[in-house]
Amino acid sequence: MEGERRPAPGPPSQGLFADGHLVLWTLCSVLLPVFITCWCSLQRSRRQLHRRDIFRKSKHGWRDTDLFSQPTYCCLCAQHILQGAFCDCCGLRVDEGCLKKADKRFQCKEIMLKGDGRGLDPMPHHWIRGNVPLCSYCVACKQQCGSQPKLCDYRCIWCQKTVHDECMENSLKNEKCDFGEFKNLIIPPSYLTSINQMRKDKKTDYEMLASKLGKQWTPLIILANSRSGTNMGEGLLGEFRILLNPVQVFDVTKTPPIKALQLCTLLPYYSARVLVCGGDGTVGWVLDAVDEMKIKGQEKYIPQVAVLPLGTGNDLSNTLGWGTGYAGEIPVAQVLRNVMEADGIKLDRWKVQVTNKGYYNLRKPKEFTMNNYFSVGPDALMALNFHAHREKAPSLFSSRILNKAVYLFYGTKDCLVQECKDLNKKVESWMVSEWHCPIWKAR
Ligand SMILES: [Zn+2]
Ligand SMILES: [Zn+2]
Ligand SMILES: [Zn+2]
Ligand SMILES: [Zn+2]
Repeated sequence: MEGERRPAPGPPSQGLFADGHLVLWTLCSVLLPVFITCWCSLQRSRRQLHRRDIFRKSKHGWRDTDLFSQPTYCCLCAQHILQGAFCDCCGLRVDEGCLKKADKRFQCKEIMLKGDGRGLDPMPHHWIRGNVPLCSYCVACKQQCGSQPKLCDYRCIWCQKTVHDECMENSLKNEKCDFGEFKNLIIPPSYLTSINQMRKDKKTDYEMLASKLGKQWTPLIILANSRSGTNMGEGLLGEFRILLNPVQVFDVTKTPPIKALQLCTLLPYYSARVLVCGGDGTVGWVLDAVDEMKIKGQEKYIPQVAVLPLGTGNDLSNTLGWGTGYAGEIPVAQVLRNVMEADGIKLDRWKVQVTNKGYYNLRKPKEFTMNNYFSVGPDALMALNFHAHREKAPSLFSSRILNKAVYLFYGTKDCLVQECKDLNKKVESWMVSEWHCPIWKAR
């Protein structure tokens, strides 16, 4: 009997063909996502390069953002947008597709005016449409502005006045800009144009020119450290550029204080003020630059220095009444108001020379600058305890929140233990009349 017939195996080429299919599909399923990912990232980097190219050539101060913090509409196509770019000088906001056109169409804040610049001619408002700050009020009808969910209403990028679309009339369009609330802190573009012209004519009588701006005019120069306070300085620089003339706002990591302070020499004598945004180290850096101005014979241009403390452990700032650390508790406009209201005091600064006492006195004596200030009482005790612990384990004190928690711990402990109780009875004040320098002595 014949055995059961088995189906004959197919030709070997058919098996290979099936294997080939399998390999092909496997390769496709692996390679296709890789290819798509690579293509997407290539496109993204090309777009980024293109955007950076626009940023570099632009007169605007464009910055990228992945998410706008408030409802935002593109200044060109008026669409609602979540991400895109914004100018940190004039405040324009735009989506990626409209960036190039918007960059050409809209002008940014002009730090100097065109023309011959003789005299201080007032300039008209510079209005931009849409994205007015929340809780703004119309200058014409005094009603709330920018509350509709669309691109609407105007803001002047110099005086920050806002107006409804329907309230904007020709009279307002042609009205001269008075630079608003912070006019005494802003360096007007026309002033810089006039100074430029005077320098060309070899005239240095800036006082006459400045007298037209009034006695209250005390221009403010911002020196911010963009790396201070977990990069908070970066955002502050933008906010100050919006409120002031961008020419008076410097990042000290890009322009050293001594260079930035040369702007004071274009201002009337004793009129300039400086706001340092950073830690005690940045303040010390700026004060050293001020000392250098004295050495250069620029005493008359020396500015008064205010501090906006960033980060933690800002003893000098705290002693001068500017607080221990700013984390956005008050708006930047309020910071400027505080600077306008601040009183000037003199800081005791010493040059300390340290000489090495060895057998062979080969090393050069070292020179340091010392700010002579101190505080007594619970806050000083807290700072001392914090400092002592940070010296022991510096790596544990890298977080701002943790540092604040340690301060809170010592503050609470002092409330219970009250080590500084009756301090006024334990301390005696001595006044050395010749130097007017109070000396405190513990009993
Ligand atoms: Zn658009
Ligand atoms: Zn701009
Ligand atoms: Zn204006
Ligand atoms: Zn109105």
